[in-house]
Amino acid sequence: MREIVVLSGKGGAGKTSLSAAFAHLAEDAVVCDLDVDAPDLHILLDPKAEQTREFVSGNEALIDQTLCTACGQCLDICHFGAIKDDNGQMIIDPTRCEGCKSCVVLCPVQAIEFPEKHCGEWWISDTRFGPMVHARLFPGEENSGKLVTLLKNQARDLAEQRHAELIIADGAPGIGCPVISSLARADLAVLVTEPTPSGLHDLQRVAKLCLHFRITCGVVINKYDLSTEYEDRIEAYCREHGITVFGRLPHDPIFTQAMVQRKAVTEMVGQEADNTIGQDIRRIFERIVQFHKPQTATSSV
Ligand code: SF4
Ligand code: SF4
Repeated sequence: MREIVVLSGKGGAGKTSLSAAFAHLAEDAVVCDLDVDAPDLHILLDPKAEQTREFVSGNEALIDQTLCTACGQCLDICHFGAIKDDNGQMIIDPTRCEGCKSCVVLCPVQAIEFPEKHCGEWWISDTRFGPMVHARLFPGEENSGKLVTLLKNQARDLAEQRHAELIIADGAPGIGCPVISSLARADLAVLVTEPTPSGLHDLQRVAKLCLHFRITCGVVINKYDLSTEYEDRIEAYCREHGITVFGRLPHDPIFTQAMVQRKAVTEMVGQEADNTIGQDIRRIFERIVQFHKPQTATSSV
């Protein structure tokens, strides 16, 4: 079983469109959306939930007002300013509570409970392309890296149960904690970029991350015809660091049309000039699947 993670240093480069297309083209894969803060692969894949689970992580303090004597001791112990005196009633702001438990231990009448925090939900679903594991973190909740790890483990278990050969994961944009978690144990990172100054800059950041963690990576240049200069610069960067360019895709409105129709680009057969983009993506996907040779990380990126 191999795990391919599709990443981009920034949003809007075409990462999710390509992930959906790869999910369509793969004959035997488990699909996984690792963008738990702002997931959108479900919009294209229309998953039907078969299992729904709560994601609980960390703890939060809650005052039982029937026990609280309003002594005020917890006000002083909380270094995060999470406890307020509201006209003689002590209340805790859950957005400020860091779950340090100091107030729970201090309270002389054990009026502060410390339940696990319900931070989001995750699902195992069925799609027209096969099984999908995905999640949504509630707004403002943390621990997205932990949820990403949970999803990856679920996807692996599912792939083993179904003897699937491939996991296709749509990673989070950027280079933060959920992206680092996305890379753990991945066999290959496909980095989607576009030939613009920010595209090159963000590609360099995410490629540096992959090389730091010794994860083999390759690049797809989307909308390559936007700028010959920056396409050349991306290719030069890839050459310099031993990164394979899997392929290039031109700027094409069929991406938007597929999104509006909630389809993968490769499903748009017979539409818009016989969907040559779909054929280009198929060739890129075949190269990716055939790509086995590990790369050597360079020291200065
Ligand atoms: S320490 Fe306990 S009893 Fe005192 S104000 Fe806080 S919650 Fe209420
Ligand atoms: S658990 Fe810690 S951060 Fe939360 S309210 Fe109590 S003292 Fe403040």
